[in-house]
Amino acid sequence: MMRIKWNTSWIKNLKGLTWKEILNQGVKYYKNLNKNQRIVAGIIAGSILIGSTVLTTHYVNNLNMIYRVYVEGEEIGVISNGYELEKWLDEELDDKVKEYPKLFVHFDKKVYYKKDAEYKGVTNNRQVFDYLNKNVHAIASAQALVVNDEVIAYAKDQKTINNTLEHLKSLYSGKPVARAEGVLTASTSNQTVAAGQSNSLPGDPIVTIKENVKTVATNVSPEKVLNDEQLLQLLQKGELEPKKYVVQSGDTYSSIAKKHGIKIRELRAINPQISNDKIKPGNELNVKAFTPKITVLTTVQEEAIEVMPAPVEVRSDSSMYKGDQRVVASGKDGKRHVKYYIVKENSNVVTKKVLQETILNEPSKRIVVRGTKVKSDRGTGSFRMPAYGYISSGYGYRGGAFHKGIDIAGGGSGSPIFAADNGRVVRAGWYGGYGNCIIIDHGNGFRTLYGHMSSLKVRVGQVVHKGQVIAGKGTTGNSTGVHLHFEVIKNGSNVNPMSYIR
Ligand SMILES: [Zn+2]
Repeated sequence: MMRIKWNTSWIKNLKGLTWKEILNQGVKYYKNLNKNQRIVAGIIAGSILIGSTVLTTHYVNNLNMIYRVYVEGEEIGVISNGYELEKWLDEELDDKVKEYPKLFVHFDKKVYYKKDAEYKGVTNNRQVFDYLNKNVHAIASAQALVVNDEVIAYAKDQKTINNTLEHLKSLYSGKPVARAEGVLTASTSNQTVAAGQSNSLPGDPIVTIKENVKTVATNVSPEKVLNDEQLLQLLQKGELEPKKYVVQSGDTYSSIAKKHGIKIRELRAINPQISNDKIKPGNELNVKAFTPKITVLTTVQEEAIEVMPAPVEVRSDSSMYKGDQRVVASGKDGKRHVKYYIVKENSNVVTKKVLQETILNEPSKRIVVRGTKVKSDRGTGSFRMPAYGYISSGYGYRGGAFHKGIDIAGGGSGSPIFAADNGRVVRAGWYGGYGNCIIIDHGNGFRTLYGHMSSLKVRVGQVVHKGQVIAGKGTTGNSTGVHLHFEVIKNGSNVNPMSYIR
């Protein structure tokens, strides 16, 4: 084995020298070495050079660029490419922005990455995106509308809510829409709505909202944000999609109301498009009573000139038949000027008080006398003369023919014919040779017949009382001059009327 002696004192003197000077020292030292020493030094230097190159290459080959992903400042994982996170964020937001262009859409959490290089760095892309999909959402800035401490809707902004409330107020009060500014102010403040008071003129309606209403700034999923129209619909009717029913054949208004558990009155109220309950199969009806979320209170003073109907006094008279009446004084309507205090909840009047009344014309009383005597359709058993005049022909044989009644002439055409007794009219109309004819059944075995009349004043079925005018005298049918032909029929057989007239 070859022994080589090394002079190493020059290495100790390298301190404080530049790399160039050290290299020069090395070269100088190398020149002073003998042949064997030179070979060995070359081998050592080469080995150092190769070794360091291999190590560096290994390190660089295992040094990865990684991207640490943070949500709300906390690292949730590592991905291999920051571009993928940017792409995910862009797509999530773009979809919503395109879908809801009028909303301010943003993420509900702060998401970012930091670039890093790590020896043998490991990534977990899938877990990172799973986490993001589950926990990070695009949301919209909105105002929550809080009615009596309950959030009932979200709108884009304060202005949308104010405009809708104003719209609702003007719908019920008839007052034009006020400027929205200053109706509901600063979000998150617990302020109730009391608009229209400060700037109203005397006599103008005061329009307020009954419920305690406030708004709160919030973030919400964009699909929950209502537009003006939807908000109005919700506040007015209590729901976005009113329940509908398509009319089937055989349905009636009352059967539909019953089927849906609402009153016919309510069914009419929520279907103003249908008049007189006239429905046809295929018609679409609202079948759920509205329950408004907001109640608009309108307080107003109204003045009117009103007719005061004449008061009616009814007096009874036992000598007159029931159903008959006589006006003793016709009376006269009066007139008044009246000032009302009216409170309405939406369109329903809940209070109407008279504040002031000035009578312009006093009404005068209308007096009506009404009969109380009950009519009987049962005969008394005795008959009165059924007409004025004289007997021109009696009962019995008359030139070979049998005359079944008596003829009463005189009194002139149209003169009154009276019911001979109480009874019920069983015939009233044309009856062959009798002309205009009436038959009264007296309910006691007797019937009376009246012929040749010019006019009839009673109908079949009518109850008549003894002495009631039933017709006018005439000469209709088989007759040669104005007279009444009168018969009395007892149990189906004609009898001589003169035997029964008292
Ligand atoms: Zn006759």
